[in-house]
Amino acid sequence: MTQTAHLEPGIRGRLAPSPTGYLHLGNAWAFLMAWWAARQAGGRIVLRLEDIDPQRSRDEYALAVMEDLRWLGMDWDEGPELPAVGSGAPLSERGECGPYVQSRCSAIYARALQRLQRQGCLYPCFCTRKELRALAGAPHVDDMGAPYPGTCRELSEAQRAALRQAGRRASLRFHGPAGAISFCDAVQGQQCFTLEDCGGDFAVQRSDGVIAYQLAVAVDDGRMGVNQVVRGRDILPSTPRQIALLRLLGYEIPTYAHVPLLCDTEGERLAKRHNSLALRSLRAEGVPPGRIVGLLAWLAGANPGRREACAAELTPSFRLDRLPRQDCRLDGLLLDWLRHGAPSGGIAYA
Ligand code: GLU
Repeated sequence: MTQTAHLEPGIRGRLAPSPTGYLHLGNAWAFLMAWWAARQAGGRIVLRLEDIDPQRSRDEYALAVMEDLRWLGMDWDEGPELPAVGSGAPLSERGECGPYVQSRCSAIYARALQRLQRQGCLYPCFCTRKELRALAGAPHVDDMGAPYPGTCRELSEAQRAALRQAGRRASLRFHGPAGAISFCDAVQGQQCFTLEDCGGDFAVQRSDGVIAYQLAVAVDDGRMGVNQVVRGRDILPSTPRQIALLRLLGYEIPTYAHVPLLCDTEGERLAKRHNSLALRSLRAEGVPPGRIVGLLAWLAGANPGRREACAAELTPSFRLDRLPRQDCRLDGLLLDWLRHGAPSGGIAYA
C-alpha cells in the first residue's frame, strides 16, 4: 500500500477542497498558490475531494468547486472529472492513484488503521465531547486548546469492555512517538513541534465511524505520491500530526508551504460565511475571473501592475519565497477595484 514508485518523477502538488460550501476568495487564494507552485516546477496537480464528513459534504458543492476552479483557470491532471452539465452520472476519475474522492476510500483508510493498530499506536477513547470541553485551557499552538491528557490511554481491557457494555461508543485515538518533529516550511521557515504541542493524542476515527481529517489526508497524500503541499497557515498545527502518520505508514514526507490567510476588512479570516465573497456571488455580479486572479496575484507579490490576467500567464512571476508571512487584508479599496475594475478617476492603488 505504500508503493508510489510507479509514478513519474517530478513535483506532485494537490488541491484538496472540502465540498462543504461554495468556494470563496480565501479558498481561491490558497488554491492558486498551490497551483502556481506546482505548475512553476513543471509538476502535476492532483485534485482530491475531501468529502469525508457525510454530514457536511454535498455533491452539489463538489460540482460547484470543480466548476469554480475551472472558471478561475486552474486545471488538474488527476482526479475527478467535471461531468457534462446535467448528466447526473457519478463523477468519473482520471489518474493512477484513485480513488480521488475520499468518500470512496473507506477500505483504504481501514487498512491504514489496521497498520497503525499493529504498531500499537491506537486506542479506543470513550471521552464525550462534554468531557473534552471541560479540558479547555491555555491554547498550545494557535487554536489547539489544551492537549488531550490521555485519559483513556491506560484503560484496561476490562474497563473498555465495561464502558462498551454501558453503551459508550469509542473514537480511535493515535498515540505517536515522543520527540520533536521538524520540517522546513517554505513560507513560515523552520518548524519544530512535539505531538503534545499540537494537542496530544488525536482522533483518527470518530465514534460514529467517520474517518478523521488527519488520517484521511496523510493516507491520501502518501498514496497519491503528493510531494508538495501548499495550503493555508491555519492548517500548520496539523502538519506534525500528518508527518507522524506518514512516517508510520511508510510514506515519503512532502515539502510544506503554509501560506498567509486572506482576511476581511476587520482582519478576520475569510470563511464560507462571507457569502458576498463566494466566487459564485462575484461571478453573478459580473466580476471577470481574470480580475480575481489579478488581484490575488498582486497580493502575493506576483503581479505588480495589478493587471487582469489568467492563472497560467502569471505562473512564471509567482515565488513562494516572496510571500509575506503575515495575513493579507482585503480593504474597501481593493474590494471596490475587484467589483468595478480600474477606477476612471485615477486613484493610486500602489
Ligand atoms: N480539505 C481541507 C480544507 O478544505 C484542506 C486540507 C489540506 O489542505 O490538507 O480546508
